Amino acid sequence: MNRDIVVRFAPSPNGLLHLGHAYAAMVAHDFARERGGRFLLRIEDIDSARSRPEFVEAILADLHWLGLTWDGDVIFQSDRWDSYADAVGRLKAMDLLYRCFCTRASMRQVQEAGTQSEGPDGPIYAGTCRHLDPAFATERAQTEPYSWRLDVARAISMTGALEWLDERHGEQVIHPEKLGDVVIVPKDTPIAYHLAVTLDDARDGITHVVRGDDLFASTDIHRLLQALLDLPTPVYFHHPLLRDESGAKLAKSRDSASLSVLRTAGRSGYELVQQLRRDIFPVGISLS
Ligand code: GLU
Repeated sequence: MNRDIVVRFAPSPNGLLHLGHAYAAMVAHDFARERGGRFLLRIEDIDSARSRPEFVEAILADLHWLGLTWDGDVIFQSDRWDSYADAVGRLKAMDLLYRCFCTRASMRQVQEAGTQSEGPDGPIYAGTCRHLDPAFATERAQTEPYSWRLDVARAISMTGALEWLDERHGEQVIHPEKLGDVVIVPKDTPIAYHLAVTLDDARDGITHVVRGDDLFASTDIHRLLQALLDLPTPVYFHHPLLRDESGAKLAKSRDSASLSVLRTAGRSGYELVQQLRRDIFPVGISLS
């Protein structure tokens, strides 16, 4: 076994897995196994409002059913709050986070006024709270809920140009401003996806991040956070997404395609994975 290679599958337990997840898990699993590496399972359950234990159980049952085995214990992000708080503190000490009091409604208004530009994941935050007077922001924080956002322009001015490698898409130069000042600490939970995933990929010794093309743009933010927090940069492999007949990305809410339904209906998970390997992995893309 080539212990140097470590890959993970990192689902969020806020819905049932569907065929797109089976495909993503299979690609990451095969990537690790074909290179003799380790394959880890990390449950990304930081969003306590949406994560549910029954979805964790369904994920484990689905992966067993698919015959995709992982190494070591299942990792839970909810066991790691302390390490997240530490990293948030470091970013604050670098003066890279600012309080944001915007609400969905106020951001919609800005959007309707046409002053917000569109990014790969939706409208880019217009920066309304970026230059609030610190004393005023501290006072508002006594009574109003707020999130903490990353001042991306300031962060890049500290790191300079950064690059990362995608084995499928080639060498990339980061443009994290495409996603704007992302939320690092949401209003209602201690940490948001971008920082948690970056810290955990480093902590788990992930050498190759294998995940879907829907997270391709996010990697620029992750690379920036790695530079700010002195973390290693893995190699990336963003795979294509499974789409339905109309070309739309498969969504968790579409219960008809959920793996649990297929599993409990007595379908063979092993055959499903074989079929995904044979028919759906796009021609011309090799894992090795
Ligand atoms: N937890 C994320 C999700 O389910 C994926 C994280 C990642 O692969 O980077 O969308």
